[in-house]
Amino acid sequence: MPAEAAPRQTRRAAQAKKAPAKRTPKQPPPPPAARAVDAEKVYGAGATAVRALDGVSVEFPTGHYTAIMGPSGSGKSTLMHCVAGLDTLTAGKVFIGDTDLGTLSDKELTLLRREHVGFVFQAFNLVPTLSAEENMSLPLALAGKKPDKVWQDTIVDTVGLRDRLAHLPSQLSGGQQQRVAVGRALLSKPKIVFADEPTGNLDSKASAELLQFLRRAVDDLDQTVVMVTHDPVAAGYADSVLFLADGRIVDSLDAPTAKKVLDRLKALGE
Ligand code: ADP
Repeated sequence: MPAEAAPRQTRRAAQAKKAPAKRTPKQPPPPPAARAVDAEKVYGAGATAVRALDGVSVEFPTGHYTAIMGPSGSGKSTLMHCVAGLDTLTAGKVFIGDTDLGTLSDKELTLLRREHVGFVFQAFNLVPTLSAEENMSLPLALAGKKPDKVWQDTIVDTVGLRDRLAHLPSQLSGGQQQRVAVGRALLSKPKIVFADEPTGNLDSKASAELLQFLRRAVDDLDQTVVMVTHDPVAAGYADSVLFLADGRIVDSLDAPTAKKVLDRLKALGE
C-alpha cells in the first residue's frame, strides 16, 4: 500500500531526524500557528440564516500538518477562510500566531496575510505571462521585498523545479504548476499555509507528488500546513485530521492513514 506507507515512513524518518533539534525541557512549546476560539459564522439573517460555523474552537500547532474533512456544506471552507483572515466571524476569535485578527484594520489584515499566510487553491492561479520563478516571487515583489535566496533555493529544490524556473505556466504540467503555487505560498516563510483541495485538479501521480512536497514542507522546512480535502489518501499524509459536520468539529484522528480516515468517515455516516 505505497500510498499509505510512504508518507508515514517519511514522517517517522523526519521526526527521528528532527528529534535532537527539538526544544530543551526548559523551553515552552511554540504557540499554535493559528487558532479559533468559539468561532461562529452566520450567513444571512432571519429565516434564511445559515450557521456555517457553530462554536468551533481549534488549534493548528506550529510545524504540524492538519487535514480538515467533512461533507459538502459542513463549514470547511468557511473555517479556513475565517482563520486565514479572508472572511470575518460573526462571533468568537481567530488568531494567527499571537495576533487577534478581529483587532486589525483591513489594511493591517492585508499586510498580515501577505507576510504570514500562504495559500494554495485547487485552481493554480498562476500569472500566465510570468515564468515559474517570477510567479513564485510575485507576492513578495508586490510587497516590495526580495526573497531570501537561501530559502528560495531550498524551496525550489524541495518542490523539484530547478530545471523549470524559466518556463511559463503553459509549458508546465498541472502537477508542476501546483508545485509552483506551493513554492509561491512558502516563499515568504509564512506562519501557516492553507491549502484548499490542492490536489483537486491533479491526477493520482501528480497528487502523490504534491502531497509529498507539502509533507516535506512540514518535516524538512518546519512549515505549518492546514489542508481541506475530500480525499482520504490526501488526508493520510497529514499529522492529524479534523472532521466537521454542520459547522462543528465532531471528531479528530491523529497519525491518520487513508484506511483509518475512510473507516472514520464511514462511522460518521458519510
Ligand atoms: P464546505 O467547505 O464544507 O463545503 P462551506 O464552508 O462552503 O462548506 O459552507 C458552509 C455552509 O455555509 C453551507 O450551508 C453553505 O451553503 C453556506 N455558505 C457558505 N458561503 C456562503 C455565503 N457566502 N453566503 C451564504 N451562505 C454561505
